[in-house]
Amino acid sequence: PYKGPDPTVISHVRLHNLSPSLLSYYRQPVIIHQGHMQWLFDHTGRRYLDMFGGIVTVSIGHCHPKVTEAAHRQMSRLWHTTNIYLHPQIHEYTERLLATLPSHLQVVHLVNSGSEANDLAVMLARLSTGNFDIVSLRNCYHGMGPNCMALTAHNTWKFNVPHMFGVHHAMNPDPYRGLWGGSACRDSAAQTTRQCDCQPGQCDAAQKYADQLAETLRYSCPKGRVAALFAESIQGVGGTVQFPKGYMKKAEALIRDHGGILVMDEVQTGFGRTGEHFWGFEAHGVKPDIVTMAKGIGNGFPLAAVVTTKEVSARMSEALHFNTYGGGPISSAVGIAVLDALEEDGCQEVARRTGARLLSGLAALRDKHGCVGDVRGKGLMLGVELVEDRETRAPLAAAAVADVWEHTKDCGLLIGKGGHFGNVLRIKPPMCITEADVDFTVQVLDEAFAKHLPQ
Ligand code: PMP
Repeated sequence: PYKGPDPTVISHVRLHNLSPSLLSYYRQPVIIHQGHMQWLFDHTGRRYLDMFGGIVTVSIGHCHPKVTEAAHRQMSRLWHTTNIYLHPQIHEYTERLLATLPSHLQVVHLVNSGSEANDLAVMLARLSTGNFDIVSLRNCYHGMGPNCMALTAHNTWKFNVPHMFGVHHAMNPDPYRGLWGGSACRDSAAQTTRQCDCQPGQCDAAQKYADQLAETLRYSCPKGRVAALFAESIQGVGGTVQFPKGYMKKAEALIRDHGGILVMDEVQTGFGRTGEHFWGFEAHGVKPDIVTMAKGIGNGFPLAAVVTTKEVSARMSEALHFNTYGGGPISSAVGIAVLDALEEDGCQEVARRTGARLLSGLAALRDKHGCVGDVRGKGLMLGVELVEDRETRAPLAAAAVADVWEHTKDCGLLIGKGGHFGNVLRIKPPMCITEADVDFTVQVLDEAFAKHLPQ
């Protein structure tokens, strides 16, 4: 049972003594007290199905017994920085992690968060190419560090302070809201909206967005002197935006032509979440020089990594790079247990199977409710874009989105929201959900849409 302070005390402290920039999600906030696999429990013992925890960190389930056990075991042996000493677990983890990636990626830098990983990736890209300018895509989110906030092109997450110089944002290849539409890389075109009028297989949107990237490079960057292109395999915070088929491959060729390398941010899309592949970038057929990862890598434990080639890493030998906690024995033990559990529990297959069922359930809701503008995503990384009007695609007003959200919470279902207009419901559960959880989610959303959306 809950033995913490009175909920009003907690709300007061949150309001007055914690950062005013914290997200305040629900009108009636939830005090989360315990978690087990896909379930969360509040201070009254009420149970919630957590269909959002996967995005925030929990890839394989809250307090997964295997991971909890591994952390406990290591905590009773050694907590220390291992930047100075050798430790078998870190070396085992490095090998295990590398085995999940293409063989050209051979060097692992262990850190604590996605922002740290992307900050380091910026430095690696600049050191290894000798170039400075970096391109990322509008509507992307790469973190809150000093470099990452400059990469991020989403004004909800930007403060009015000077950001890192030399970052340029190319037009977002967004099939739903982008200038040229596009057919996204979809598992099944039959299940989701086609977003442009082209005949299947004849869509030239990817080329048009790539031409716009070429133009950004031409106008904004020193000729042939670009350090990197950063991209998420599917934009997460930006509202589950999948790029038009073929775009990433064209973008990769362009960036290489301009002297740069490709950095894929797999903070949200990695570790089997897209169902189809272990890494999101595999679906794009690209060969990244750097892959950054966090969140699901530790199932909630602060662990993140930058994985790269020997060539890109080489200049790191010119100075020392110290990170007190990065890749300590406890986080490595956790990382190994997560990889074991992902395999033993068949999480990628769960993501593929339950994700396909959820996607078709959501597509049916789109066909039923006029205010569902788009349903998209892959595996257990799905988005539902709510609009005022399907023709104009005007985003649904924030108050109506909040009504839907509050309703789902009151029914015991936790989901996220995001996108540039805050009108995309984001569904990213731990990869241990069942068919029954999927059906419950669709049922609750159906009710919430019927009650709160203009019909
Ligand atoms: N990259 C992506 C794609 C993310 O979604 C996030 C976090 N939302 C980050 C980087 C930053 O990770 P962290 O919050 O661990 O710094």
